[in-house]
Order: sequence, then structure tokens, then C-alpha cells
Amino acid sequence: MPSSYDTLSSVLIIGSGAFGLSTAWALCRNPQYKNTSITVVDRNSFPSTDGSSVDSSRIIRPDYAAAPYARLASVAQNRWRTDFAPEHYHETGLCLTACGPEQKYVGDSLANVQNIGTDKIEVLDSAKDIARVCGLERTLDDACGSTGYVNWSSGWADAEGAMVWLRKEVNKFNRVNFVVASVKRLLFDFDSNTVSGATLSDGSELRADLTILAAGAWSASLIDLRGICKSTGQVLCYKPISADEEAALANRPTILNLSNALFMIPPSRGKVKIARHGHGYLNPTTIPHPESQDPNEKITVSLPYTHVTDPNLVIPAEGRRACNDFLASIHPSLAVPSRPFTTTRLCWYTDTRDGDFLITYHPKYKGLFIATGGSGHGFKFLPVIGDSILECVEGRTPEEFKERWRWPEDRVPEEEWAGDGSRGGPVGMVLEEEFRKGEAKL
Ligand SMILES: Cc1cc2nc3c(=O)[nH]c(=O)nc-3n(C[C@H](O)[C@H](O)[C@H](O)COP(=O)(O)OP(=O)(O)OC[C@H]3O[C@@H](n4cnc5c(N)ncnc54)[C@H](O)[C@@H]3O)c2cc1C
Repeated sequence: MPSSYDTLSSVLIIGSGAFGLSTAWALCRNPQYKNTSITVVDRNSFPSTDGSSVDSSRIIRPDYAAAPYARLASVAQNRWRTDFAPEHYHETGLCLTACGPEQKYVGDSLANVQNIGTDKIEVLDSAKDIARVCGLERTLDDACGSTGYVNWSSGWADAEGAMVWLRKEVNKFNRVNFVVASVKRLLFDFDSNTVSGATLSDGSELRADLTILAAGAWSASLIDLRGICKSTGQVLCYKPISADEEAALANRPTILNLSNALFMIPPSRGKVKIARHGHGYLNPTTIPHPESQDPNEKITVSLPYTHVTDPNLVIPAEGRRACNDFLASIHPSLAVPSRPFTTTRLCWYTDTRDGDFLITYHPKYKGLFIATGGSGHGFKFLPVIGDSILECVEGRTPEEFKERWRWPEDRVPEEEWAGDGSRGGPVGMVLEEEFRKGEAKL
């Protein structure tokens, strides 16, 4: 931590997703930084269409097995309800279910939201109950879960709409220099172990007292995160539905079955979306070691492969089939062969070993702060995560997150990671192998 963060003359934020943009907003609002120059660089023009933070919807829930996240999410949710992009927030409930070992997560989460005390909860003892609450056409334990609960105080947000809203709020301060460019490498001084900004792919430099790396699933291309973070690709499938179908489902809760990891958020923009909150695909990629002085030294890390990397990308057949089978099991009328998915997408989580965020100074390089590790659940914190990141920058990490958000002491092999207990579905899939098994036809 620099001794004089309060006199920072310049901050460079790499990544304009939820973590980066929310941090820029927090800096703008904090009088302590009124003289600090703020630059946000992103490889895509805003909104970054393959970033994790941009999509038609994201679940907004305090339903966490870990009480600190339940409490922080509850604070964030009160902002969504009141003064943070409220027009993009819809409180239609979340039905959290399971039919296997993931029931432990569901039970712990239920206890936490009951402790918060403000939430409207209904415990569901059977698949029939789940189907009733969610308005499902069919009841199959494996698909919709056998037990769970609905929290009517949870909801979802139009993620892209909220990001655009926040960008406008940031623009009102007229303080942030937004640069569209790809960061090629951090600017290291290996004699003093300092980072003083970044080199862009055109060779130019952006210099700053403090560099905040918030590049989501791409962060592992800019520092060595092996054994700390890994990028996992998650499938999303969309298909158009009629106005009547949309109206019938619009006020139903999101159904999320942690055992098969599949979920359906209420439809929006005339489309239904099915996705998987699973272990995801790895995409091992060999790149020059981001911290090495030797250009020939390489490391292999999982990195995103998206529709920006490959405009013809369609998700592996396995993923499309899983989403279609799930839809067919709960709403068969929407899954008939004449109504295929019309769009699919791979979206990348930045997973950590236990699902905790990584919000901390780099232990080796002065001037480098890391804000990533969203682990598939970071978006809901958009109204508050920038403030939390600033607290950590200032050495005031909230007590209950000190252990959770710090740089871990050891690098643990990925196969040994426990996760947070919320992920079901297939384990150990590698994207290229799944592609080789045959591409999904839309
Ligand atoms: C399919 C899916 C579903 C999810 N569902 C939920 C949910 O329901 N609820 C919830 O709370 N959370 C959810 N999440 C998680 C949440 O979306 C993420 O935790 C959060 O959006 C992460 O934000 P970020 O800023 O870390 O990453 P991003 O939004 O990905 O931002 C990183 C940015 O860095 C930029 N970048 C990368 N490399 C470079 C470079 N070299 N140079 C310049 N710029 C660069 C990228 O272009 C990108 O814009 C989901 C995530 C996914 C993928």
C-alpha cells in the first residue's frame, strides 16, 4: 500500500467492466481524489460486448451461503431498489433449488437470508412446489430440483442497461479519461519491483501512480495468476418468444437449480435466456510470461475465447444440449425443435479457489492493485463494489472480507479448488475438446 494514497496524482484502471467502472465512479465521488487524474482503458468500446458485465440480465440476490456476501449483497440490493439504475432492476424473486449435495448451499443461503430478516421467503419441499411457484409447465426433480426456497425479495437486472446507466453517471463528473485500447503488458520496473502503468498494443504507454487491474477473465494475461484465478467459459442460449409468452413468465422468479447449474431468468427484450452457472470450460492458452524479462519464457493459463475473438463462435454442442434439455424439462412448449436457440454466447467467469473476490495490492509490485475474481457472482455488487475496492486501496478492507479478498499465501493447483459449493453440472471440460466433438447448430 502506498504511504500516500490520499495524494495519488494518477490512477489507471484496466478494464471497464463492473469492477473497473464502479471503481472509477467511487473515485469521482470521493472528494479525497478531487485532484487525481483517472484513466480507464478497455480493449473494447463501451459497453464491452464480450465482457462479463454486459448481458440482457444478471441475478441480483442476497442468497449466499457465506454471510458476508449475503450482507453486502443486501446493501447493494437496497441501492438497486432506490437510487441505482432502478429502472433496470426487477424484483420478481429467485427460486434456489437443488437435488444433490448442493442442497447444503441452499440450506445455508436460506439461513442467511432469514437472518437478514427483510426477505420474503417461502420454503419449497418438493418439485411440485417449485413448479407451482415458478409457473413451470412440467415437474421433473432432476431439472428443477427437488427442494429449495423462493426469495421474493431477490430479482434481476438488465446488466447492459445498468452499465450504460453507470457510465452516464461517471461521465457527469467529466473527470475520467476513457481510452479504447488493448493493454499489452504492465510497465514493470524489476529493479524496484514497481508497476507504473501499462504498455498498449500500439507501443504507447499510460503511466500512473496506481494501476488497478480489473480486466476480469483476461487479468491472467497481464499478471501471473496461476493457482489463484482461472477463467472458465459458461454457456448462454437465447431464443425469441411471443409477447404473450413473455408476459406469462415476466413476473415469475428466476429458477436456479444448483445441482445441474442451469437457470432461467424471466424473459426480456422478447427473448428467453437459459444459462449454466457451472464449472465451465477451460481454455488453456500458452502466452509469454506476463511478468518475465525473458520474452521466450511462456506460461499456459485458461483465457477467454469469445465472439470478439471469433465472430463465428457457437458454443459446444454439449452446452447447447444441456440448455435445451433443461428448457424442454420445464417449459416443453418453448423447446420444440421448430423453435431453436437463435443466439448463443460463451461468457467468462474469473474463478478463485473458494469463490471469493481478489481485491488487494499485489504482494510483490508497488503501485499495482488487483480487483478481480468475480467468480460468477460479482455483478449484483455494481452499486457498491467500487466503494469497497477504494476502501481496500486505502488499507481499510472490511473486517469480514480481509481473509476472503486478500492475495493467497499459496498457489493451489486448480484441480484441488473446493469452490463455494454453488456449482453443479459437468466438471473438467476443455473448450477445444468440446469443440472437436462437434459444433452446435443453431
Ligand atoms: C454467464 C455469466 C452469468 C453471470 N451471472 C451473474 C449473476 O446472475 N449475478 C451476478 O451478480 N453476477 C453474475 N455473473 C458474474 C459477473 O457478471 C462478473 O463477476 C462481473 O461482471 C465481473 O466484472 P469484471 O469487471 O471483473 O469483468 P468484465 O466485465 O469482464 O470486465 C473486464 C473488462 O476488461 C477488459 N479487458 C480485458 N483485457 C484487457 C486488456 N488487455 N486491455 C484493456 N482492457 C481489457 C475487457 O474488455 C472487459 O471490458 C455472471 C457472469 C457470467 C459470465
